[in-house]
Amino acid sequence: MNLILFGPPAAGKGTQAKRLVAERGYVQLSTGDMLRAARASGSELGKRVAAIMDSGSLVSDEIVIALIEEALAANPQAAGFIFDGFPRTVAQAEALDSMLARHSRKIDRVIRLEVDSQKLIDRVAKRFAEEGRKDDNPDSFKVRLKAYLDQTAPLIPYYEKQRKLVGVDGMADVEGVARAIAKTIDAR
Ligand code: AMP
Repeated sequence: MNLILFGPPAAGKGTQAKRLVAERGYVQLSTGDMLRAARASGSELGKRVAAIMDSGSLVSDEIVIALIEEALAANPQAAGFIFDGFPRTVAQAEALDSMLARHSRKIDRVIRLEVDSQKLIDRVAKRFAEEGRKDDNPDSFKVRLKAYLDQTAPLIPYYEKQRKLVGVDGMADVEGVARAIAKTIDAR
């Protein structure tokens, strides 16, 4: 089972992905986490993406596609992958389909977490206060939301056409969302 957790920034994708890792042994592939790790390590890549990430814009397709390619190759035995924060553009989605095909895999479900914008803004304000992530500041968050609407939302028709998109109410509490996700995974 290979899943995409899809939705706007702060919809709860990371939280739910970590639960699926713990409960089902899937491998979480979060390009956001990979890029933050690159920054923390002080690598060339980390330096290249730092300012773009802090502004809230998307880094280039080429960079994130290469990260995913590497992670897929490094986990040949994975029971399944959870893609979290990837793909974010149609070009990334097309690249993912062909990378998975090369590994004899495919996307089985795209689980869309539906959360209204005011809730996202509230969540991010709280997270900014607690964790101080630079791209959670209100100006960067506006850019991230706009990037989602302009560049990522076109993936909705892309996956609808493939009949893979399933909507889940992301406004419920963490447990409620987890239950709804489990239902969609188990409804084969
Ligand atoms: P996230 O933690 O998924 O919200 O990602 C944090 C930041 O990393 C994003 O605002 C982008 O700057 C960058 N990023 C993460 N994933 C991608 C992606 N798939 N495509 C482009 N940029 C990404």
